[in-house]
Formats: sequence, structure tokens, C-alpha cells
Amino acid sequence: SFSRQELADTIRSIPDYPKPGIIFRDITTLLGNPRAFRRAVDELVNPYVGMNVRKIAGMEARGFILGGAVAHQLSAGFVPIRKKGKLPHETVSIAYSLEYGVDEMEIHRDAVLPGEKVILVDDLIATGGTAVGAVQLLRQIGAEVVSACFVIDLPDLGGRAKLEALGVEVRTLVE
Ligand code: IMP
Repeated sequence: SFSRQELADTIRSIPDYPKPGIIFRDITTLLGNPRAFRRAVDELVNPYVGMNVRKIAGMEARGFILGGAVAHQLSAGFVPIRKKGKLPHETVSIAYSLEYGVDEMEIHRDAVLPGEKVILVDDLIATGGTAVGAVQLLRQIGAEVVSACFVIDLPDLGGRAKLEALGVEVRTLVE
């Protein structure tokens, strides 16, 4: 079947996007490959089977694609974390730093019940700013964030260590 290397090979690298000197890792080529998409979702899901995870939280926008598939496969619910101003009900928001600037994200205040087990899903962890903000939001509304998983880790940027320092287990598929 599909190896880790073959999975990694489906990810496209775009030099100088969105700024000169940045290599953007583009997962649309992974998502568009039926076997790669299946393999990536299976590998994200496998460690959590039987853990009674209640909800998957995904960050806009690629976290919605992967997180939705992971939630479905675990028979969990899905919770969107969105850019400011997109969620219609009462929200909690947080400012966060990301690789290319600063932004604000939000979650519905009633998206999880106190103590519910939640796993965070996104396509990629770089500096960890986005994921740290998401963990803080989830904790503010009472979630127990048991783990965070990503298809791609950019280890030189230190995101994994930041999440682990918050007591969140981190799982990634390719570096
Ligand atoms: P961080 O907050 O620095 O860890 O950046 C991670 C966030 O930015 C995630 O939501 C990613 O989707 C996005 N991101 C940063 N760099 C890349 C990239 O090279 N490819 C795809 N997404 C990226």
C-alpha cells in the first residue's frame, strides 16, 4: 500500500509563497489524490480509535477538510474554529501569532460541554501560534484537549514543543 514517503511525495512545495523566501507546503495535491487522502486520514485517525473522543476541532480552512473526515471516521462531532466574524452565535475569541503575521480566531462558546474530550486537527504546524491559540480557546470553553494532529510538521519552527509545553500530545505524519 501507500508508504509514508509516497504520502509525502504527494505534497507540493511552492517556492516564494506567500512571500519571497518562504516555501509553502501545498496539500491540495494530497487531498486530490484518492489513495493519499485516504491514507492521511487513516493515519491521523488510527491512534485515537477506541479513545471515546467526543469532538474534533478543526482550524479554518484546511483543518475543516481533514478534521471533518477524521471526525466522521471516529464517529465524533466536529467543531469549527474560524477567523473573526464568521461564526453566527455567541463566541469566544483570541488573538494569535502565525508564521506570516497576527490574526484573531473564534469558537462558539457552547461548542463543547465542560470536560468533553477534544482532538485538534490541522494540515500543518509551523511556529505553533495557530494551534496554541486553538488550544487556549478550547480550554476557555471547558474542553479537555487530549491531542493535536497534523499532516505536516515543520520541526525547525518549534510548534510541537510549544504545544507539548501546554500538556498537549502532538502527532504528525511527515516532516
Ligand atoms: P503556525 O501558526 O505558525 O504553526 O502556522 C500554521 C498555520 O498556518 C496552519 O493553520 C497552516 O494551515 C498555515 N500554514 C503555515 N505554513 C503553511 C504551509 O507551508 N502550508 C500550508 N499551511 C501553512
